[in-house]
Amino acid sequence: MTERTVAIVGAGLAGLACARALVGAQYSVTVLEKSRGLGGRIATRRVGGLAFDHGAQYFVVRDPGFRDYIDLASATGYAATWLPAAPGMSRREPWHVGVPGMSGIVKPLAAGLDVKRGLKVLKCEWRDGEWYLKTESGDELGPFAVLLLAVPAPQAVELTRDFTSALDVEILLRNVRMAPCWAAMVAYADRLDVHADVLTDQEGMLAWAARDVGKPGRLSTQDCWVLHASSEWTREHIDDPPATVAEALVAEFGKRMGFEARAKYHAAHLWRYARVEQPLGAPCVWDAKLRFGLCGDWCLDARAEAAWSSGTSLAQQVLAVP
Ligand SMILES: Cc1cc2nc3c(=O)[nH]c(=O)nc-3n(C[C@H](O)[C@H](O)[C@H](O)COP(=O)(O)OP(=O)(O)OC[C@H]3O[C@@H](n4cnc5c(N)ncnc54)[C@H](O)[C@@H]3O)c2cc1C
Repeated sequence: MTERTVAIVGAGLAGLACARALVGAQYSVTVLEKSRGLGGRIATRRVGGLAFDHGAQYFVVRDPGFRDYIDLASATGYAATWLPAAPGMSRREPWHVGVPGMSGIVKPLAAGLDVKRGLKVLKCEWRDGEWYLKTESGDELGPFAVLLLAVPAPQAVELTRDFTSALDVEILLRNVRMAPCWAAMVAYADRLDVHADVLTDQEGMLAWAARDVGKPGRLSTQDCWVLHASSEWTREHIDDPPATVAEALVAEFGKRMGFEARAKYHAAHLWRYARVEQPLGAPCVWDAKLRFGLCGDWCLDARAEAAWSSGTSLAQQVLAVP
């Protein structure tokens, strides 16, 4: 076995940024992702001719390394600046979005990587100094010299139950808190007669609404909107059926915007670990003895850029191994 084989669980921005940095340094990297799509919470759901960015809405860019990446993505047509009509809202920094959907932003990162999609990892085992992964389909993958988990903190705790690291992951991540979010996707056949592309509210049940087709490079001809419930409302309604949640959010949206248009399509998706409420406060977690690490937005902040920074930091830890 070569010392340079790495398994990364999770093809969100953190996992892909980490993988890209390691592949650039001649590591042999396998990324395992349970979903069919890439990007994790940076997601675009396509239904017929409709498309919805039902996870992350836009990025702000502060880290010079992330800026270089967004510049590259913009130059190759995978990102653009969004200037929504948002009366009364102040934007101190430019808002960047993926093109033609938010998930477009990870395309340049993922190009050429070995990503095994639709493979859910259930168990990680450390045997004789090497890593093995058991998947939901009953397969075992490995051996790998290095194991990196790029999944939300509660899922990382689950995946580390079966081995003992010098870092007790459960204790280490005890104070990390992530909030859930119900997202509704709604399309109207005719463009709504509203003058805002974005609605925010810190108090009510509807925390955010955005006109997806108002973003640059969108292909849908229907008026597609994404609605996000507040964390409080989501927690109270976490076990409700998706159809009931979609109807409640769409009705609230109509009430807030002052119209009674009939939606042509609506659906809801629960993000169980959506937004970081309390981060770890360190860029990543690394156990040099086991060659095992953790990364994700939850290390640093509730923003996509934090995922990129965390994944990049973890790659630096791996590269520093003599
Ligand atoms: C509703 C919502 C709105 C948001 N709005 C914004 C915003 O406007 N601006 C902003 O900057 N950020 C926003 N965010 C946050 C942003 O999306 C995240 O910070 C970022 O995408 C996190 O990336 P990540 O790689 O750390 O995690 P994730 O994107 O969660 O990636 C983890 C990946 O691991 C996979 N995975 C998990 N368990 C397993 C397993 N056992 N086996 C295999 N694969 C597994 C998952 O499928 C996923 O693809 C929002 C998030 C949500 C949900």
